[in-house]
Amino acid sequence: MSAPSRVGHPYAGAAVALATKHQKQDAIAPALGAVPGLRVVVAQGLDTDALGTFTGEIPRPGTPSQTALTKARLGMRALGVARGVASEGSFGPHPELGFVAVGVELLAFIDDELGIELVERRICEQTNFAHLETGALDARTESFLARVSFPAHALIVRANRPPGDDAPGPLYKGVSDLAVLRRAIAQCAAASSDGQARLETDMRAHKNPTRMGEIALLAAALGRRLAQTCVACGAPGFGLVGVERGLRCCLCARPTELVACELDGCARCGHSERRPRSDGLGCADPACCEHCNP
Ligand SMILES: [Zn+2]
Ligand SMILES: [Zn+2]
Repeated sequence: MSAPSRVGHPYAGAAVALATKHQKQDAIAPALGAVPGLRVVVAQGLDTDALGTFTGEIPRPGTPSQTALTKARLGMRALGVARGVASEGSFGPHPELGFVAVGVELLAFIDDELGIELVERRICEQTNFAHLETGALDARTESFLARVSFPAHALIVRANRPPGDDAPGPLYKGVSDLAVLRRAIAQCAAASSDGQARLETDMRAHKNPTRMGEIALLAAALGRRLAQTCVACGAPGFGLVGVERGLRCCLCARPTELVACELDGCARCGHSERRPRSDGLGCADPACCEHCNP
């Protein structure tokens, strides 16, 4: 495994297509340009919304990974480039701490010349993802606006409806002006059956600087991964592919359910290497051992 470097890397100066409607090149191009030196070319005018939208007008088919890979292929096809990159995010309650929101950002990378497909993932605890039902621009609404960093971060406003009721109605996207917001709340509240408008954070990258920052961090991680080449075949993209469980108990030395080592693998040839846990933990606390603490 070689150290991250762009000198002599197969991707130094190579073109990679990016399909985006939401200015994601601002986050992705500088990161991939720095390491491993990829040149991001934006595929203009592609309707990635056909793959589903955040605002829910078009449902998203497939898993987020599949959607990201499909988007990357759309860009490659449009530009006739052998490499493509695309981003996909999803947001919701934290899987363990249900009361806080979390984002999952994915970056898919494809190289058809080398036969590489990989998806880099980042759990984002920094997100303003939230919603509020309200009938007016009152004190409660103002505290919501402060919490979601409005107007630096835009909002979506629609009529509040019971789940499953998808009758057409007013829909405001990218709202980042207080006067427009006031009008949108009044109109959407009037169009609903309960007198409430539903305010949602606009999660499109160009309307959400927090999300754009997370995508930049993920792009840097993808860049570092692509900079690592496989010792067996020389392909870029050598990195974490899984873990092996069975870390031995510090007291009785029996294997536990804890991760024993991390597995790095090649995205192309299947070569893999074991390495110790990145946190340096060498044995398991007997409290985690079935034998010592049944
Ligand atoms: Zn034990
Ligand atoms: Zn390899």
